[in-house]
Amino acid sequence: MTFLEGLLLGTVVVLAFRLYLHRRYLNRMLAWISGPLDAPVPDASGIWGEFVSRMNRRVKTRQHEKDLLEKSLEQFQSALEALPDGVIFMDAHRRILWMNTLAVNLMGLLPGQDKGTPIEHLVREPEFVSYLQTGDFTEPLMYHPHRRDQTCFMISLINYGADRQLLTIRDLTQLEKLETVRRDFVANVSHELKTPLTVISGFIETLQTHHETLPIEKRQRFLDMAMAQAQQMGRLVHDLLTLSSLEARASLVDEKNVHIKPLIDELIISAEALSAGGHDMTVEIPDNLVLRGSASALRSIFGNLINNAVNYTPSGGQIHIRWQETDSEGGFSVQDTGIGIPAVHLPRLSERFYRVDQGRSRDTGGTGLGLAIVKHALSRHQGHLSIESQVGTGSTFTAWFPTNRISRNGQ
Ligand code: ADP
Repeated sequence: MTFLEGLLLGTVVVLAFRLYLHRRYLNRMLAWISGPLDAPVPDASGIWGEFVSRMNRRVKTRQHEKDLLEKSLEQFQSALEALPDGVIFMDAHRRILWMNTLAVNLMGLLPGQDKGTPIEHLVREPEFVSYLQTGDFTEPLMYHPHRRDQTCFMISLINYGADRQLLTIRDLTQLEKLETVRRDFVANVSHELKTPLTVISGFIETLQTHHETLPIEKRQRFLDMAMAQAQQMGRLVHDLLTLSSLEARASLVDEKNVHIKPLIDELIISAEALSAGGHDMTVEIPDNLVLRGSASALRSIFGNLINNAVNYTPSGGQIHIRWQETDSEGGFSVQDTGIGIPAVHLPRLSERFYRVDQGRSRDTGGTGLGLAIVKHALSRHQGHLSIESQVGTGSTFTAWFPTNRISRNGQ
């Protein structure tokens, strides 16, 4: 072998070895590229080392970008989860792409199963389907999914992007309930005012037309009756104002130490006038009892309970007023031997205008608001009302106050 041949052979061998190395690196690279994204980068040196490190940098940047994107998507989804409204993202055919948990719960959907299905196939109420089909979404839909109860949702549909739709669902059930309570209240007040007003205008009309011919005693009787109706209206307005001022504030503004015994003595004087000697009243209240609270609200609580005992206890009955204390509360009780209340009425007794016997309440000048006032005034003092009653035997109403409001004068 000549020198030249030897050199050539050596070069061929070196080149073949290099080719073999390149091929090995190439195979490793191919295996790495086709493997999972997070597979470790293969070892390499020379030009392949440089290649691998650049590739590695590129992959890491991509991975970082992907992580950032995933993180912001997660943040976006958790913001959508935190929304107080149900949210459903849909494509142009209203197929569900994504929805938050509130939407799932409100619309009764199945998160795993319902994605990809058009919403009309899942919520088939005609009211809802025809809203979607109108194509006019300038106004939201007030949707009542179950006709039997008061559930009410406000549905809005918003087009966004080239061919995407967003459905939002707001639960208005509580607001609707409040609105019903408000409507009932206005209807009740109007009804309560209408009766005495009709009577008063009837008397005025009679007096206007027959003022010359009407005997003086009859005229006097009409005026007395008109006066009684005007007083009933006055009581109603007074109770309404008391109730609304109690409802307007969550806490008491005129809080002070109130001496209870003199307050009760005062109330007993007016209760005796109301009873006109028809009841035997006994009082057992400690002379030095002091309650921290609003004097006017406490007067309303005790006055209403005492007057009710007089009004709903036939003449000859007994009324016992006393103070009692437990470890955590103090209670002002009014016990009567009156007509009593059937158990079925007890839970609703402190609702506004709720009466067991409409006629009897009106005859005694009742407004139907007394116990509602008691309940509200007590809750402003963190207290509560308890009622025990038996038809024909009598009732005991107790206004309970927390111990931190109770003290003794001079202690
Ligand atoms: P009212 O102005 O009609 O007395 P309240 O809110 O004070 O209104 O009381 C509601 C209803 O509770 C009354 O109409 C009456 O039917 C019943 N009630 C209240 N107190 C008594 C009582 N001591 N004995 C029997 N029934 C009572």
